[in-house]
Amino acid sequence: MDPILERYQALEEHVKAYSPNVDTQKLFEAFSYADNAHSGQLRKSGEPYIIHPLAVAEIVAELELDLDSIIAALLHDVIEDTGVSHEEIAKQFSPAVADLVEGVTKLTRVQYVTKEEEQMENLRKMFMAMTKDIRVILIKICDRLHNMRTMEYQSAKKQREKSLETLEIYAPIAHRLGMQRIKWELEDTSLKYLDPVGYQEVEKALAARSSAHEEFLAGIQRKIQERMDAESIHCHVYGRVKHIYSIYRKMYTQQKTLDEIFDLYAFRVIVSDLPTCYNVLGCIHDMYTPVLGRFKDYISTPKPNGYQSLHTTVIGREGLPFEVQIRTEEMHNTAEYGIAAHWKYKQGMSNDKLGSEEAFEWVRKLLENQQDADPDEFIRTLKVDLFADEVFVFTPQGDVKSLPAGATPIDFAYAIHSAVGNRMTGAKVNGRIVPFEAELKSGDIVEVITSKTAHGPSRDWLNLCKSNEARNKIRQWFKKERREENIATGRSAFETELKRQGLTMAEITEEGVLPNLLKRSRFGSLEELYNAIGYGGQSAAKSVGRMKDELIRLGKAQAEKAAAEKLVTTGEEVIMPASSAQTAAGLKASSPKRSQSGIIVEGLDNCLVKFAKCCTPVPGDPVVGFITRGFGVSVHRSDCPNAQPENRKPEEAGRWIKVDWAEGGLPGYRTALELSAKDRDGLALDVAMALSAAKVRVPTLSAKAMPDGYAVVSVEVEVQDRGELANIMNKLGQIQGVYQVKRATG
Ligand code: MN
Repeated sequence: MDPILERYQALEEHVKAYSPNVDTQKLFEAFSYADNAHSGQLRKSGEPYIIHPLAVAEIVAELELDLDSIIAALLHDVIEDTGVSHEEIAKQFSPAVADLVEGVTKLTRVQYVTKEEEQMENLRKMFMAMTKDIRVILIKICDRLHNMRTMEYQSAKKQREKSLETLEIYAPIAHRLGMQRIKWELEDTSLKYLDPVGYQEVEKALAARSSAHEEFLAGIQRKIQERMDAESIHCHVYGRVKHIYSIYRKMYTQQKTLDEIFDLYAFRVIVSDLPTCYNVLGCIHDMYTPVLGRFKDYISTPKPNGYQSLHTTVIGREGLPFEVQIRTEEMHNTAEYGIAAHWKYKQGMSNDKLGSEEAFEWVRKLLENQQDADPDEFIRTLKVDLFADEVFVFTPQGDVKSLPAGATPIDFAYAIHSAVGNRMTGAKVNGRIVPFEAELKSGDIVEVITSKTAHGPSRDWLNLCKSNEARNKIRQWFKKERREENIATGRSAFETELKRQGLTMAEITEEGVLPNLLKRSRFGSLEELYNAIGYGGQSAAKSVGRMKDELIRLGKAQAEKAAAEKLVTTGEEVIMPASSAQTAAGLKASSPKRSQSGIIVEGLDNCLVKFAKCCTPVPGDPVVGFITRGFGVSVHRSDCPNAQPENRKPEEAGRWIKVDWAEGGLPGYRTALELSAKDRDGLALDVAMALSAAKVRVPTLSAKAMPDGYAVVSVEVEVQDRGELANIMNKLGQIQGVYQVKRATG
């Protein structure tokens, strides 16, 4: 009979042994399909290629995985090596099988380069993150195990590379998934190629003592078994010498000879139930002297990878220490096969296909357990959290970068260096040009195209990147490089937002108001605020919103205070001195005669005051106040049309209050004048010169020709008081052609 077919049949028997109702027709179909696809291909050993997938399927069968996994193991190299497509496999077998095969292929394509530990950690994470179905990892580990078993046919370079990768990626993952048996074999075979001398040294030393070892092992095993029989405890006792890599590591990291290795021997006592574990422990400690501090109860506190057992180290009569591990059958299965054992167990329970979702759920639980476990153990083993929120991508040099899920080439560029991000003009993923917003996937190789003449990041990038790192670096750039532009952009955004929220620039830049508004922000001036809005460090909407709240708060405080005052003064028409207000209402007030705005409002000091735009009063003008909604008190000239009793709205009658000028006040008051004149060349210039000669500050001046040869000159001036204003008006009236100078109203 054909030896390959014979090998297939052995596989089929093996699968049938643990899964009697398996569809052998389908299994055979998969074997034939793979055999066909790989026909003519040879392995380095000279064997037909199909031997490899068959062997991998055998290892998968040892883990007693389901039929889909066995089929996927048989097909695991057909996409990569024979160009069969996912669709074809899905059609021939099932989409589930095709997904498994494709998953294994993706892992095969990742090129691992040996790096420092942090990089290895990222590689292991990437390995897990790229896998949506835990069976893919199990099959990939079996694939690697067979490749390691047949590594002797590869070149020395390849042996070293693969062994390092196995030791750094595959063995830790196998350990992580609790698959001790496979982990040991991966470690031992890797060591054989990485340090053949060291490996042989341990191997030889063990062999030289092998008869002594065997004698020792058999002796202890017999004694334990006898004691168990005497106690009527049903159990299996095994003794073994620990695996080569663990001895090797102990010898080299602890600088010890083989004879000094403390726990070279390990015994296992496998029992039927949990309480018996502790009974056995009692017996062992009764028979031998326990070594202090070497007892570990992994039953009550399982290892992060789910391992459960009692460990104790005792000293035998020969003076040799040995370790005894005590556990139940089920714990033992988990210890040997890890997640695969669990998987098998679940399958037996439900007797139908276990969804990958559920399998992953178990991994999730396992990983959650890790959080409470010994932190060192956690760090040493694989830190996996299923990475729903992370992607792992390669630099062209093979470094792995971890980025938040949904990250784009912009995040990647800034993760490398801010200079790379700032000079980025484009990006390639797996060799192809992609747009800036392309979403990166685990395993992608990303290359940033930079140019020394790049103009720096664009503001849209802030919306295209996912990582805070990139966002901060982009903002940093705008903050530094584009201050003027930022201020302009920020100012315009701020003004738009003001309008949207129903405020005017005048309201917030009012004397005495702005410092209060800025006090609440971390900006010393409006310019600083604009700059921050411009580079994206501050939102315009939030800034304006906060100012609005503050204005309302100030206004409200004022209105409430005014209302309280009204109550106690009960209609008195005099301006209440602060002292009497204080006594009457118990309110706090200070120096009533001085005020920042130069206005005193019916016994209130320091209330928010603004001067009405319509009539722009100056000190000395008879004035009247109006409590505005929200913003304090607006001061009008008594002769302002808007303040005339016939123009006041009846429902607002209560809002009109007495105000008067106080001592102190502002250095200058802005007021508007209107000049009527016969139009002539140089009229505006003469007005300006007259004002200049009077040393008056002139914020605005404009002249407008009227149709009938006349002109109107509007001018704003800043004056101390009504006296100064009268003087100026007089001077302006003397300019040639000017026939009227009046205060502007409305
Ligand atoms: Mn393979």
